Amino acid sequence: MRLVLLGPPGAGKGTQAYKLSQILAIPQLSTGDMLRAAVAEGTEIGRHAADIMQRGELVPDELVVELIAERIAQSDAARGFILDGFPRTVAQAERLDHVLNGHEIDGVLELKVDEQHLLDRILGRAMQARESGEAVRADDNEEALSVRLTAYANQTKPLTDYYAAKGLLRTVDASQPVDRVTAALVEAIE
Ligand code: AMP
Repeated sequence: MRLVLLGPPGAGKGTQAYKLSQILAIPQLSTGDMLRAAVAEGTEIGRHAADIMQRGELVPDELVVELIAERIAQSDAARGFILDGFPRTVAQAERLDHVLNGHEIDGVLELKVDEQHLLDRILGRAMQARESGEAVRADDNEEALSVRLTAYANQTKPLTDYYAAKGLLRTVDASQPVDRVTAALVEAIE
């Protein structure tokens, strides 16, 4: 099964993609995680992306398309995958269709949460990480979050129309407790 998880920052995409990947036994492919790994390793892509990510803006389409195309070509993704954080623009979605090379996306799951909820979740996540001595994401602060929310509204939200027109979009209320959201996602897939 090939799934796309859509949702604004703080909606719980990473958490839900992980849980679905366990339930469905397919890998979670997160471009955010891949980019953070590239930044940490200091690769060319990482050097290019670091400042952009820190500001909360989207990195160029070509860069993430290249990362995801390489990842999808690996053998563990042959039976399916959950895309977490990709595509984020209509141009990326169109490129994804080429990358899939004849295969199709089976479903697009949108996590919906109101904006105040998001701010609380992200700032709470940053505070928790700080208190337990973990690394805080460079973009989990109020300034970058506002840029990330704007990027979502302007560049990513139009994807809901793109996928709705293909009959693939299912929207789930992501302000519910984590396990209820997972159950709603599983139901939406079925
Ligand atoms: P995430 O972990 O999904 O919240 O992504 C963190 C950051 O990585 C985003 O704010 C962007 O700067 C960058 N990023 C991740 N995925 C993409 C994508 N598909 N297109 C462009 N930028 C991305």
